[in-house]
Amino acid sequence: MKIAVLAGDGIGQEIMVEALRVLETLRLPDLQLNFADVGGVAYKAHGHPLPQETLDLVMSSDAVLFGAVGDPSYDDLDRHLRPEQAVLGLRKEMQTFANLRPARAFAGLENLSALKPEIAGAIDLLILRELTGDIYFGDKGRRETADGLRQGYDEMAYDESEIARIAHAAFKAAQGRRGKLCSVDKANVLQTSVLWREVVNEIADDYPDVELEHMYVDNAAMQMVRNPGQFDVMLTGNIFGDILSDQASMCVGSIGLLASASLGEGSRGLYEPIHGSAPDIAGRGIANPMAMILSVAMMLRHSFADENNAVRIEQAVAAVLEQGILGHDLGGKASTIEIGDAVVAALS
Ligand code: NAD
Repeated sequence: MKIAVLAGDGIGQEIMVEALRVLETLRLPDLQLNFADVGGVAYKAHGHPLPQETLDLVMSSDAVLFGAVGDPSYDDLDRHLRPEQAVLGLRKEMQTFANLRPARAFAGLENLSALKPEIAGAIDLLILRELTGDIYFGDKGRRETADGLRQGYDEMAYDESEIARIAHAAFKAAQGRRGKLCSVDKANVLQTSVLWREVVNEIADDYPDVELEHMYVDNAAMQMVRNPGQFDVMLTGNIFGDILSDQASMCVGSIGLLASASLGEGSRGLYEPIHGSAPDIAGRGIANPMAMILSVAMMLRHSFADENNAVRIEQAVAAVLEQGILGHDLGGKASTIEIGDAVVAALS
């Protein structure tokens, strides 16, 4: 279990300490933690947000635990040297095309959701977002129109192999859950989406036990607020998943609760909270470490096939939240360390 630990910037450092304490409580015999710099701290120490030695460590590891990157003091740097480039670089190098973002209601938090409690209480969904294609990676730039006006453009493109591999991952994920898959697209307008729908339909033949539906992204955004309980697995392209997963986080209660896994073809994965480095609260000891702790659970499940310990961590987190031990983001008073203590105690 060779794990690269990249805490990064801001609250990344604080939440990682608690996540590692939780991991160490499990007393796993083969655990090997190796630490490296990433983001603003790496730029400061090595002149690059993703130094070669960090990348080498990552590529020789079984899994990566990633805190967060981003530091306002580097906002004026060239784009390719900004801390945030590190996470894009890691995803690209690791070829992690599948981003898993689970969102589920926690008992005791129903009243903290942006939705009505009875609607929020039914949330148990997984967004499976394609992560290495789409409009983020297409041809982009500036040009001049025939009338001499400035024009910006970004090409949205997917080839069938990119759609097929994420679709297979989504059908498999649905098989392991409630057997329902909602593929999100904009096939009434976009050619990319017409192909997306075509390929997903072809692959559906391999998974007769999964109930497939297609939904336009605008409707999906509306349905997630109207009745999120209807969703099991949501398959999305890169940009639609980016937007829908932030929406899902506030349906649950706080961005400090949502973990993610980014996976490629093998078992190696990148595990991180969906939030950023939160410079507004960094260093104050009040960051909620739950998303990072839940990222450890996802790592045990997806990179090390250790479902037992993944579930133990998830149950410990749920128990602590149900006891009302809440961070400041959820209107509570518990510090980062107190929340870590409570999860460790629930596991012991
Ligand atoms: P953010 O997610 O860091 O913070 C948004 C708000 O949520 C802030 O008010 C913050 O205090 C709060 N928050 C976030 N996580 C929390 C936690 N665990 N506990 C309590 N409160 C929490 O987003 P932002 O402010 O837009 O961005 C800050 C920096 O993070 C930027 O540099 C941005 O580029 C970067 N960023 C990095 C990643 C990443 O590393 N993957 C993701 C998103 C943003």
